[in-house]
Amino acid sequence: MTTIGFIGLGNMGGPMAANLVKAGLNVTGFDLSAEAVAAAREAGCAIAETAQEAAEGRDVVVTMLPAGKHVVGVYEDISGVVKTGCLLIECSTIDIKSAARAHEIASQAGALSVDAPVSGGIMGAINGTLTFMAGGTNEALDAAEPILDPMAGRVVRCGSATAGQAAKVCNNMILAVTMIGTAEAFEMGRRLGLEDQALFDVVSTASGQSWSTTTYCPVPGPVPTSPANNDYKPGFAAELMLKDLGLSQDAAEQTNAYTPMGAKALDLYKTFCEQGHQGTDFSGIIKLMQQAKNSVI
Ligand code: NAD
Repeated sequence: MTTIGFIGLGNMGGPMAANLVKAGLNVTGFDLSAEAVAAAREAGCAIAETAQEAAEGRDVVVTMLPAGKHVVGVYEDISGVVKTGCLLIECSTIDIKSAARAHEIASQAGALSVDAPVSGGIMGAINGTLTFMAGGTNEALDAAEPILDPMAGRVVRCGSATAGQAAKVCNNMILAVTMIGTAEAFEMGRRLGLEDQALFDVVSTASGQSWSTTTYCPVPGPVPTSPANNDYKPGFAAELMLKDLGLSQDAAEQTNAYTPMGAKALDLYKTFCEQGHQGTDFSGIIKLMQQAKNSVI
């Protein structure tokens, strides 16, 4: 049976590891948090005392950690103990430089590696319906697909090493920008005397259409499942969107890409978080538009 080490058993990693267990795989988890470890044990994971113990001799090691520094730290830590030819799957959302460094460490350790960040949030992790954006060699991607399958709704092969992270930062920059545009339009519509539902009926089938309107509409009513109907409880917290916009602006700087809307989106999410809304769903950014008396926040 394929043996898997799973490092990082938090909000996302915990349920992802649980889905691997449900699929009949042999999973050994490690996390610094006692609470995360207890939940993983409950879900049927064996528990390791260290990252090295979780990784040593396994066929596959999956990581789901907060940021690039944690990933590079763990990769450096486990590089001496991973089995030659094993597969390292890195699912966290991290900066491109750290993702490249992780691939480099894996290669030096004689391991195959895939960067495979996800979208779909905590519900996607629980339901095993995440979209994985995967980057790596064909050999590594072929090996990764059956492991990702129990956690995935879809696996998109994005290209070579770091292409998965590249797709993730591009996607989330679009998401932030469309959400802000949608929020601006719905608030301006109200000020013009337009009903939210009327604007939704037009935009959802017209050229202004996007996921930010049809799935995550930032006003309550038109899409009953959107966080706007639940006091903007996440969903996808504003602080996570701010993190991802930091990653996209890092990538823009690294590549000399011109991303003025991405930069402005980062500014607006920073303001929103500084107002105490870190834990609010990112569609709650409409509160900035609602509180503004004129074009200045
Ligand atoms: P989380 O904070 O709930 O979990 C991260 C876990 O990593 C924690 O349990 C922490 O104790 C553990 N950890 C940190 N350093 C460690 C180390 N050195 N060794 C072992 N464990 C360590 O975060 P999350 O929501 O699960 O997110 C994980 C990643 O997934 C992040 O990169 C995030 O951006 C990304 N992501 C999150 C969501 C979401 O909706 N939460 C959606 C898509 C992507």
